[in-house]
Amino acid sequence: MQIAIDGPSGAGKSTVARSLAQHLGFIYIDTGAMYRACALKAFRNHLNLMDPAAVQTLLDQTRIEIGHEQGEQVVYLDGVPVTAELRLPEISRLASDISKLPACRSKLLGLQRELAGRQNVVMDGRDIGSFVLPQADLKIFLTASAEERARRRQAQLQQQGITEDYNQILKELLYRDRQDSERAIAPLVQAADAVLLDNSHLSQPEVIDCIMQLLRQRGLADA
Ligand code: C5P
Repeated sequence: MQIAIDGPSGAGKSTVARSLAQHLGFIYIDTGAMYRACALKAFRNHLNLMDPAAVQTLLDQTRIEIGHEQGEQVVYLDGVPVTAELRLPEISRLASDISKLPACRSKLLGLQRELAGRQNVVMDGRDIGSFVLPQADLKIFLTASAEERARRRQAQLQQQGITEDYNQILKELLYRDRQDSERAIAPLVQAADAVLLDNSHLSQPEVIDCIMQLLRQRGLADA
């Protein structure tokens, strides 16, 4: 079974997807972390994203693997776990930049489909329902106002000991929204058969309740 959760940055996809997967006993796959791993590799190698040949060469030499430890996804970049570094603000921006490039998208598409083909998954990202898993059993487009998303992102960073200015976070978020929605390949878009859930005023348990209700209505979960 495949559940796709898409939406803009900071909409709460990963928290919802992780908790839903736990509830259902499924594997949670965070595809954003895979793009972030490509970005980290590019960052470490001072890659010029304007040079398609250099991008292709570096990505050809890059190994990205996904593991799970106690229900948490761990991303391995060239065999080394990199989970914490992936959340740094400079990597967020670079992930949005590198994810526009065909070499990067095609590298990760196969891995994402393979992971979803092997087990029951809740997968979150930008193009899961519209492109990666078009046959997903349930597609959710999770969103919230930009201001609310910026507030949540600031709180999240604070928990990790990173202090960032709210206006700067909002600016970055709007930049990523625009870039993710306007790119030519697999842009951020609500799939025609996705259910729109605006969680600006919903708590996380309320969102999970909504999704469980949708699963029951479709006969995909026990009443
Ligand atoms: O979800 P997260 O913020 O971790 O994703 C980082 C970046 O990776 C996004 O801004 C987006 O550009 C890219 N991404 C993507 N397609 C996905 C998941 C993430 O293009 N399925």
